[in-house]
Amino acid sequence: MKPFFKLLLIVLPLTIFALTARGQANYLKITDYRVDYGWAKRFPQDWIVLRRFENAGRQYMLMVNPQTLETKVDESKDYQVKAMSMVALRDMFSSSPYAKALVKAERQSVMVQDAGIEMGMPKEAGISLTADLCPSHRPLDKEIFTDLFHEFQKVEKPAPIALSVTGVWMRQHPKDLEWLKQMERNGEIYITWINHSFNHRVSKTLPLKENFLLEPGTDISYEVLETEKAMLKNGLLPSTFFRFPGLVSDQQLVNRITEGFGLIPIGTDAWLAKGQEPQSGSIVLIHGNGNEPVGVHDFINLLKSKTQAIANKQWLLYDLRESVDEEFESSK
Ligand SMILES: [Zn+2]
Repeated sequence: MKPFFKLLLIVLPLTIFALTARGQANYLKITDYRVDYGWAKRFPQDWIVLRRFENAGRQYMLMVNPQTLETKVDESKDYQVKAMSMVALRDMFSSSPYAKALVKAERQSVMVQDAGIEMGMPKEAGISLTADLCPSHRPLDKEIFTDLFHEFQKVEKPAPIALSVTGVWMRQHPKDLEWLKQMERNGEIYITWINHSFNHRVSKTLPLKENFLLEPGTDISYEVLETEKAMLKNGLLPSTFFRFPGLVSDQQLVNRITEGFGLIPIGTDAWLAKGQEPQSGSIVLIHGNGNEPVGVHDFINLLKSKTQAIANKQWLLYDLRESVDEEFESSK
């Protein structure tokens, strides 16, 4: 056989494997899902273990690469694992973007609204787009995604977007979820999935400091872990990001999210429907659940106003993971 064809035979199966590996498996029989921190090693990469669970008789771990904030689910038998506390892990990987992002989020957690990281890369032109999928009876605002793909297809394909998803939204909108996954399979968009709690309860009368996740009687463990389980069941890969419902939290709750679950709270400095203007490096917030057409309209206008800059690669969309990452690179 000619060497070229030999090469092709080697490369093709690898390509197919890479394609299937990008699509996340559906874990339909999860049991014993729990927080379990550790240091997992498989040469040459170190991973931080955040969760463990069993699915159909196999043992799995949800892990994060502390250098890139990339997450993955894998069988635990393929790794050497050392159990460690989150404090010890953060100490061990203290110079990594993951540990630094946790510190930064905790520092910005004093206010009752909009704690967490709310801006990245101030020197770069472009934004990170986040869209929240709070519970809603309205259908997904598909225009966001089709316009995004349309504007960026020549310069950034797939276009990165981070979606904050609630357990209730996933249950209410299986067809919309499938549509998003199909766009991703087509290579049109790349989604980072943010945990936005399961129930996203809200009261019309309670003050902010007792509202959303601060409402007395809230089971934080349930809100965080059941959302992750629902993501895994639906074939979505949980990231290490968390967005507070209503952007409402206090210091204690922020620490619970960082220490208790190893997740990085993500705020916003540009909630478009509230008239906040996006700057370079902004983490922009819109709602993708049909409840906030003003914000979506503003975002589409923003995209249209940048058409030329986008075409010249002078205005780009940033993957939230890079955005959090590079901020520390540039501030060194
Ligand atoms: Zn929300």
